[in-house]
Amino acid sequence: MATIQAPRGMRDILPGEVERWQALEARVHDLAARFGFREIRTPVVEHTEVFQRTVGEHTDIVEKEMYIFTDRGGRSLSLRPEGTAAVMRAYLEHGLRQQPQPGKFYYVAPMFRYDRPQKGGYRQHTQFGAEIIGSAEPAADAEVLTLPIRLLQSVGLTEVEVHLNSVGDGACRPRYLQALRDYFRPRADELCEDCRRRLEQNPLRILDCKREGCHRIARGAPFSVEFLCEACAVHLEGVKRHFELLGVTYVLDPFVVRGLDYYTRTAVEVYSGRLGAQNAMFGGGRYDGLAEQLGGSPTPGVGFGFGLDRLLLIAGVEDLVPPVDRSPEVMVVTFGEAARREGVVLLDAVRQAGIRAAGDLLNRDGRALLKYADRVGARFALVLGDDEIAAAAVTVREMATGEQTAVSRAQIVGALRERLAQGAADVGTSGGGGR
Ligand SMILES: [Zn+2]
Ligand SMILES: [Zn+2]
Repeated sequence: MATIQAPRGMRDILPGEVERWQALEARVHDLAARFGFREIRTPVVEHTEVFQRTVGEHTDIVEKEMYIFTDRGGRSLSLRPEGTAAVMRAYLEHGLRQQPQPGKFYYVAPMFRYDRPQKGGYRQHTQFGAEIIGSAEPAADAEVLTLPIRLLQSVGLTEVEVHLNSVGDGACRPRYLQALRDYFRPRADELCEDCRRRLEQNPLRILDCKREGCHRIARGAPFSVEFLCEACAVHLEGVKRHFELLGVTYVLDPFVVRGLDYYTRTAVEVYSGRLGAQNAMFGGGRYDGLAEQLGGSPTPGVGFGFGLDRLLLIAGVEDLVPPVDRSPEVMVVTFGEAARREGVVLLDAVRQAGIRAAGDLLNRDGRALLKYADRVGARFALVLGDDEIAAAAVTVREMATGEQTAVSRAQIVGALRERLAQGAADVGTSGGGGR
């Protein structure tokens, strides 16, 4: 029989790589807590409607990129393609506006897009996102968007540039969309097929079409900032002022319109010098229209979504996110049957004392176990043989030097803790030992 592989565009994260994930996630949780965000976990699947109503039926995401399936009860469910709509759904469902406002939520969770895998992305990727729901103030935009910037900076990606735009709101955007249609209609023949369709449905999206032909035409289009109403213009100034206070570098970029229909006012894409100009590290923005699209009362919100897979792929970050060490600190090595039994008890005692420890699961003899201890990087071997059992002792062997010390069985846990805390040096010695 042929062996089975992971689904196309999805991948396993194996031991060796997963420690880097754990280190990065620990940093994310710590940083989010410092910013006052609480973690929220929503289901991996949502009713398809959640995304049809919010992301928009006529977006690439819903039309081409979502995993949509019918469950056994005949309901249309979707693997979530992004986090914001699900968080807002949960906020409304649980009446979270009754709690102290604004609500500040974050998640580190898998997202799913049925992309062509050759584009370099994965069909399942892990996203770090945060949302501030219930504040329309520019301070909220600046705070939530600064969180991932501080994450980037904390892993050494210090050259961070925010590309900032405002796409307006219900008061001023219709006028702008009309201006866009007026501009693009006479040039429709030169647009790609997708953009010709967007022309009537959502002309804003022509501005972020990546095709060179479309972009060339879009460069001459009217820009949203020229059409902002007074309130939107004041909001944009407020965001800029906060970024300045926070030392966050930004440039105004009229082509940042974000792919989703529910964005209002602030739209950002954030670039890192290390990545070159091509790829945004993350995007975010304000979505004051989202709650109503989900059937809730008007509720402002602002947030971002940040794909962590790419962050970990960037050269150099390996060194900047030091992996959490999960290798065993000690290996229990036994010679003979009596020692094997005693070793089971010793291993358990050491683990209960909070020390990472491993032992034999393959019926290996002591010599083979010492080699194994070396291979997995254990710092000490706890050697048990007939002599040790007779003396109610354990021989502690420092793997790097081969130096061995006899420690009484009663004191072994305390002695180990002390030595592990102390660093690899100065373990008391009693010669190299003959094993
Ligand atoms: Zn196009
Ligand atoms: Zn406006």
